[in-house]
Amino acid sequence: MANLQTKRGCHYKCTFCAYPVIEGRGMRTRDPCGAAAEVETLLEEYGLDQFFIVDSVFNAPRGYAEAVCAALRRLGRRIRWSCFVTPGNLSAELLDLMMTAGCQSIDFGTDAGSNRTLRAFRKSFNVDDIHAASALCRERGLPFCHSLVFGGEDETWETVAETIATMDACRPTAVTAMCGVRVYPETPFAQALIGRGEVPGVEALYEPYFYFSPAVRDGLTETVAAAARARGNWFLPGSKVNDEDRLFANLRGRGLKGDLWRYLARLRLGRALGPAGA
Ligand code: SF4
Repeated sequence: MANLQTKRGCHYKCTFCAYPVIEGRGMRTRDPCGAAAEVETLLEEYGLDQFFIVDSVFNAPRGYAEAVCAALRRLGRRIRWSCFVTPGNLSAELLDLMMTAGCQSIDFGTDAGSNRTLRAFRKSFNVDDIHAASALCRERGLPFCHSLVFGGEDETWETVAETIATMDACRPTAVTAMCGVRVYPETPFAQALIGRGEVPGVEALYEPYFYFSPAVRDGLTETVAAAARARGNWFLPGSKVNDEDRLFANLRGRGLKGDLWRYLARLRLGRALGPAGA
């Protein structure tokens, strides 16, 4: 799978995220035809037909994703791609354009399924948006994954339970969950923690530093692991729960490629695993 970037930067203000720090706080877009030409070169000269669009958020700024899809459309039967999407700005029309242009699955940067935790992260959407975006994918049979971060500010056992319940109601193909918020230097979250004296200084963040809301510090990892184990389609990177490393190695061994979690629905139903993109 090759990576493709159609823009840099992110104008959203999620407190913990390093994208705006690394790439800038505004979005700078490429000429969509230039991006499509790059894809065509990779396809024709190197045989690469699977892509991950690594943009911070594919479906922003408004109107640009539509232009990228229009540019990729003529290649849409020959390539397959995936991307990061915000649940707050996804219309049926855009999703249809994405699928026509070769989109085979999407990864929602959801982070939480509780309005209280979403507000604390300063996400730009709410739980209703998560349900609506999930329903659009389900209606089209498009595999989708929600990525979560448990343990952020204002997280309580109640919000943890709400997030798990939201995921159950949305019925995603897969869930990727992390416990503890990695605090990166220069993010609003890092500045707040340093300002409050909870972190002694920025140097403390150069080693991996994870924040856990005090209300759930004890037992969060075990609780999320139990939820993952009970569901089977949740992955906790770095843990052996549901052992995605083994599963994905097995799928790769069969010659499958791209974002392999999308095969989970077929595996659960006991269906044959077709070629990539099928
Ligand atoms: S989490 Fe996603 S939407 Fe939020 S600032 Fe980071 S890249 Fe942007």
